[in-house]
Amino acid sequence: MVTLDKSQKEILKAASEFAKGEFDKDQALALENANAFPHDIWKKAADLGFVGVHLPEEFSGGGLGMLEACLIAEAFCRKDSSIGMALAMATSGAEGLVRYGDADQKKAYLPRIAEGEMQCGFGFFESECGGDLAGVATVAEKKDGHWVINGTKSHVWNGGAAGVYLILGRTDPEASPGKGLSLFLVDADQEGLTIRDAERRLGGNMVACADLVFTDVHLPAANLLGKEGRGLPQAETIIEETGILIAGQCLGTAAGALDRALAYVREREQFQRKLAAFEVTRQKIAGMALQVEQARLMTYGAARCGDAGKGLDRLGVMARITAAKAAVAVADEAIQLFGGYGYMKESEVERFYRDAKVADLTLGGTIHLKNKIAGRVIGKIK
Ligand SMILES: Cc1cc2nc3c(=O)[nH]c(=O)nc-3n(C[C@H](O)[C@H](O)[C@H](O)COP(=O)(O)OP(=O)(O)OC[C@H]3O[C@@H](n4cnc5c(N)ncnc54)[C@H](O)[C@@H]3O)c2cc1C
Repeated sequence: MVTLDKSQKEILKAASEFAKGEFDKDQALALENANAFPHDIWKKAADLGFVGVHLPEEFSGGGLGMLEACLIAEAFCRKDSSIGMALAMATSGAEGLVRYGDADQKKAYLPRIAEGEMQCGFGFFESECGGDLAGVATVAEKKDGHWVINGTKSHVWNGGAAGVYLILGRTDPEASPGKGLSLFLVDADQEGLTIRDAERRLGGNMVACADLVFTDVHLPAANLLGKEGRGLPQAETIIEETGILIAGQCLGTAAGALDRALAYVREREQFQRKLAAFEVTRQKIAGMALQVEQARLMTYGAARCGDAGKGLDRLGVMARITAAKAAVAVADEAIQLFGGYGYMKESEVERFYRDAKVADLTLGGTIHLKNKIAGRVIGKIK
């Protein structure tokens, strides 16, 4: 079993109790049906310090680490995958502001994000380049001391709901594909920014999702985030770090699906025996528990590594892949164990399955992420 220190155990317990008290099954079904963000719960969670626990204290964050943020995401998603995901994703990209923002940029946004007044989002990927960020076509041109942005970012989480976005654009068209990119901070009310809602998806429907279309968006020079021309490695670092938090969500989703399956097989009788007594059920439950623990080990391990300031060296990516695969497989198996009832909304596990699947596809997707791992493991081919 994975060990946690006393304060980490307390955080996990407090987050679990908050979720137990505040997340209501019927409300979750209604919110998800309406594609609505759980505003009131988000506000309460922020007031109690569950939002942005990993953001610096001087900017209203909790001053703790990625591990603590993962524990909260795990506890929330275990109770409800959709509400947990919505709350965890509210700070999406803020890690990049912490890492690359200057003092003014941090002061302008981080306190509002940590206090539950503003959501954040990042738009790196585009439909044309897919998972290959070196192919980003959005252009940021320097003109009269301003940056002028043109292009489209596809399927951005919190798109239309966030107050600020981190945007990756090409600042040097002459540079080799991966080199001439830079990151920018774009306010949601910026003139020239249009939001195209992505509408209902398979899962993650409590989180807004939209394409961001930039038409001659003028940004002050001060909106450059980090170093000009370093946008690609900066974006990759942000993806790796946020990957750990996504792993935390997936771990909770997997554990929540297992909880529900366990409760069901202990109660449900077929052929005068509880389902839990059948050998085949026991094999399935053991396999599910195994996947949950694998996800937990990888997630906590990657988070600890990040918190220790060691290079993640693709560990964040590995944690995300492991936890996403676990969440999809465990939720799928849970539906199977529930039988026909598992296909119904009332069972909850069908929603856990739908919410789990997205982590397997987005922000590069598993195949592209595995290519990155292969790059690290194999190295240069002579
Ligand atoms: C719900 C949702 C939320 C999102 N949120 C965000 C966000 O907040 N910020 C953001 O920047 N982006 C976001 N995205 C965009 C997302 O990250 C991209 O969709 C993703 O990177 C994959 O790109 P693509 O959809 O163009 O698929 P493609 O890259 O076109 O992939 C299509 C298929 O080809 C495979 N493939 C790709 N490359 C290779 C290869 N080299 N070899 C073999 N097979 C390959 C893929 O695995 C996949 O099966 C989101 C997407 C979704 C669906």
